[in-house]
Amino acid sequence: MKIPYNKLYLTGKEIVYIKEALESGNIAGDGVFDARVCDFLEKKLLAEYVCTTTSGSHALELAMVLAGIGPGDEVIMPSYTFPSTANAVLLKGAVPVFCEVDEKTLCMDLSSAKSCITEKTKAVMPVHYGGVCAAMDRLMDLAKERDLLVIEDAAQALGSSYKGKMLGTWGDFGCFSFHGTKNLVGGEGGAISINRKDEKLEEKAEIYRQKGTNRIQFMRGEVSQYTWVGEGSSYAPSDLLMAVLWAQLEKMDEITDKRRQLYETYQAEVGPMVESGLLRGMSRVPAHVLSNYHNFYVIFHELEERQRVQEFLKEKGISAVIHFVPLHESPMGRKLGYESHDLPLTANVGRTLLRLPLFTGMETKEVLQVTKALSEAMEA
Ligand SMILES: *Cc1c(COP(=O)(O)O)cnc(C)c1O
Repeated sequence: MKIPYNKLYLTGKEIVYIKEALESGNIAGDGVFDARVCDFLEKKLLAEYVCTTTSGSHALELAMVLAGIGPGDEVIMPSYTFPSTANAVLLKGAVPVFCEVDEKTLCMDLSSAKSCITEKTKAVMPVHYGGVCAAMDRLMDLAKERDLLVIEDAAQALGSSYKGKMLGTWGDFGCFSFHGTKNLVGGEGGAISINRKDEKLEEKAEIYRQKGTNRIQFMRGEVSQYTWVGEGSSYAPSDLLMAVLWAQLEKMDEITDKRRQLYETYQAEVGPMVESGLLRGMSRVPAHVLSNYHNFYVIFHELEERQRVQEFLKEKGISAVIHFVPLHESPMGRKLGYESHDLPLTANVGRTLLRLPLFTGMETKEVLQVTKALSEAMEA
């Protein structure tokens, strides 16, 4: 039986809600499902204010706008992330500065981040890899001490928390994604959380995502005319997508629970291979973190071993995949002046990490099939 890396999970209500959205007459942005999604997220995250965006990437770009990031500014982020984290900064004419990750969490290494701070640093962007995070309390202390904004790339981390506080609500802004590969999907889509009470910022976000117009205020009856009032773009997702997302959010706790069971089975099976030294590491949930179990990875001692095992699994019909090419080692990172050895730990993770299949509809026996094949591969 073939096991894909990821498989779309449907709760069954998606089609019902899509139909409802179609019949509502509004399939553009800010429809009935969008309102439900925002309300749900504000309550679930205990956030001051949440609005949706067309993608996680656009949520990050909107965060840059709200944070006032611009030419001359530097923004510190781990190199081990998706290009969108850095693109958001580059698109504003600012400079992404890459730091190391902590080997245990694959999230921002705080001492490395600290050593990157200069007079030009305006913000730090922790990336909550796989649904876990760095010590957010210490990171917030550092940011406060050095007067930096914190923009969380929580694209993979909706539903996770640190010390009881939801990820995405620790910093000034939190950015989420509902891309088809995340735990809760709309197809494409994202959201931004503004984590302090600030009506000016909320208004700015609303105007920006509605093409620089006061459409939202107009819809609320606050102004009599709908017109161009500021800079903006088109970041309001179609209500068809929010209908799909709503069907998923309704089942959020069940989805997390299914993933937790699969993750724990992986941990129990793979743990001994790490303890005996066969593997260098695996996914772990750090202390004080409640995870959403976005992924499960193993770390090999060497690149060659990863390639061999990935090939072995593939022959057994199991699709295990690598993750990020560290941004500092990518062609674009090189253009920005980085070399591989600038961040040796991250470079090493980039060469030795392999993600095992984990998707909501997966069965425990499939996890066992994967771990059996993995252990055969390690002994081969
Ligand atoms: C998925 C992801 C993004 C981008 O989200 P999109 O919705 O695909 O634009 C950004 N950062 C990280 C860490 C991601 O995993």
